[in-house]
Amino acid sequence: MKVVYLDNNATTRMADEVREAMLPYLTDLYGNPSSMHTFGGQVHRSIETSREQVASLINAEPDEIIFTSCGTESDNTALMSALLSRPDKRHIITTRVEHPAVLNFCKAMGRRGYRVTYLSVNKLGRLDLDELDEALDDDTAIVSVMHANNESGVIFPIRNIAERARSRGVPFHTDAVQTAGKIPVDVSDLNCDMMSLSGHKMHAAKGVAALYIRRGTRFAPYIIGGHQEKGRRGGTENVASIAGFGTASELARNHVASGDDAVRQLRDRLQQGLLDTCPGALVNGDPLNRIPNTLNISFEYVEGEAILLRLNEYNICASSGSACTSGSLEPSHVLRSMGVPFTAIHGSVRFSLSRYTGEDEIEFVLEKMPPVIRDLRELSPYVKEI
Ligand SMILES: *Cc1c(COP(=O)(O)O)cnc(C)c1O
Repeated sequence: MKVVYLDNNATTRMADEVREAMLPYLTDLYGNPSSMHTFGGQVHRSIETSREQVASLINAEPDEIIFTSCGTESDNTALMSALLSRPDKRHIITTRVEHPAVLNFCKAMGRRGYRVTYLSVNKLGRLDLDELDEALDDDTAIVSVMHANNESGVIFPIRNIAERARSRGVPFHTDAVQTAGKIPVDVSDLNCDMMSLSGHKMHAAKGVAALYIRRGTRFAPYIIGGHQEKGRRGGTENVASIAGFGTASELARNHVASGDDAVRQLRDRLQQGLLDTCPGALVNGDPLNRIPNTLNISFEYVEGEAILLRLNEYNICASSGSACTSGSLEPSHVLRSMGVPFTAIHGSVRFSLSRYTGEDEIEFVLEKMPPVIRDLRELSPYVKEI
C-alpha cells in the first residue's frame, strides 16, 4: 500500500536531486577535505559550494555558516556559545513552546545554576512581548525564540523580538528549522545573531544541519577538535550529506521564490474538509500566522493515539500531541502552554505536508477520517454526541 506521508514536521523524504548530489561522495570522492592533495581538495570545494547555497537560502554570507550534525547540535551550540562568551551573564530567555533541543538545554542550564525565563503564549499560541521586555535585564546572556513552532505551526514575530533584545545589547538566536524552505527566511530582515537549520526537515539527509553566526558575534565552539569550520566546529565533515544539504537549500530557495501556493491550498482543503465532516473538531494555533504546511487539529473526546493507529491501517502517517505517541509520559507541552483543554490535547493530530504532497493523498485522508472519528467517538466513555 502506498504511504500517505503527512508527518513532514518530523522528517521529510530526500529529494532525488539531493541523493544524486550525495552519491559521488559516498563512492569515488572519499578524500578528506582537510588533506593537502588534489583528491581531498575537490571534496573541500564541494563543501564550500554547499556553504554558499545554504547561505543564499537565508541571505547570509558563506563565512557566517557552519555545518553541524543536526538541528539539536545547532541549537545547543548557539546557546552554549552565548553562555561561554559572556561568562558573567547568567540569565537565559526563551519560550515555553520551544523544541526540546532548546527547552531541555535551558532546563539543564537551570539545574547548573542559570536563571531561565520561559515566556508564555496565549490560546492562539502567540507570545506577549511585554513579558519579554520585562524579563530582559543586564544579566541576560541570550534570547532564543523559534521562528515557527513545529507542533502548532505558529510563526513568531522574530524581527520585533530580535529588535527588543538588540536594543538591550542581548544577542538573539532563532530556531528556523521549521521555516527554512517553507516561507522566506532572511537573516538581515529578521535581524538575528544566530539561526539554526536542519537538513532532514527540508528534504536533505538526516545528520546534517547548519548554524548561522552573524559576523562580529562572539562565538565559542561546542565541539572542540581540529581546525574544521575555521575552528568553530571540530570533526571531519559529513561531506556527502553536506553536498546534499547544499542542493536541498537551492531547491528550497527556488520553491519559496516561485511563490507556489499549492502546499497551503492543500493544507486549507484538508482543514476545511475535516471541520466540515468531523463534529467536535477544532484547529489549534493562530490560523492567520501559521506556516503553510501544518495543520494541528483536535477531535474532542477521542484519543489521538487511537486515531493514529486507525490511520496507520491505511498507511497514513501523522503525529499526535497526546502522550504515548510522542514517546513521553506528558502530553504536548506546546498545546498545554496554549491552554488547550485536556480533552482536546488528547485528541490532537498534527498533519504536516510538503511540496511532494499530492491532492490524492489529501482526498484519501478526507475520505477515511470521518468514519474513524465517528467509530472512536462511539467507543468514548465520555460523550456520545457532539
Ligand atoms: C526537528 C527540529 C529540531 C531538531 O532537529 P534535528 O536535526 O532533528 O536535531 C529543532 N527544532 C525544531 C523546531 C525542529 O522541528
